[in-house]
Amino acid sequence: MRDEKTLRHDVALANRIIERFGLSNAFGHASARIPGTNRFYISTRRSPRLADENHLLVIDTDGKILSGNGTPNSEFWIHARIYAARPDVNGIVHAHPLACIALTQIGEPHRVVHNQGGVFADGVPEYERIGLIRSRELGDLVAQRLDKGLAVMMRGHGITTALADVRAATVSACFLEESADLQMRMLAATGGDAKRIRAFTRAEAELTGGQTGPSVAAAGRAWEYYSAVAELKPLGG
Ligand SMILES: [Zn+2]
Repeated sequence: MRDEKTLRHDVALANRIIERFGLSNAFGHASARIPGTNRFYISTRRSPRLADENHLLVIDTDGKILSGNGTPNSEFWIHARIYAARPDVNGIVHAHPLACIALTQIGEPHRVVHNQGGVFADGVPEYERIGLIRSRELGDLVAQRLDKGLAVMMRGHGITTALADVRAATVSACFLEESADLQMRMLAATGGDAKRIRAFTRAEAELTGGQTGPSVAAAGRAWEYYSAVAELKPLGG
């Protein structure tokens, strides 16, 4: 289990990664549960690129701010209510990546079209209602759509990933956008004919998910790489 300092550092890094890799610009946020509690660390209401590990908020699953200075992100309810519903989840990313949004707006479900998409073999459900998640009730609705899954697409809005830790949630969010971006390119290349895309079978998706998923070494390498780039490259670069 990571100590508090490492966990705070991971949360700040996760936020910087989702901005650096194009999943969010001024908006979006990553969080981590404080192990064994109903509390989580989350960045304040700024671009995720400006997240500061020394200025995180601690919020509980009822939306109460327990410590930290600064305004919470207005969509913190996504995190609060998923942590409430899913004791197995210790890391959450909410971001607004363009290819995922594009998929929702053409009514195409996510399909596994390359190795790193395999982790989503069970499919990615869609939360259809548009608009920001600024209440406990809407947070509960997102958690219901997520159900036992790893991710939910949010129509015209973005994605949320929820996994066993914040590094895995971050890597999965990057993989999901990479996958959606490829799917959009394939749709464009086939003139929008989804049937021509050679989506992986269930067995193929499970095989590659087992090889590249967020619990395996490949994802550790991905976190190492993403975090190194996020630390080195300039804001918006
Ligand atoms: Zn949002």
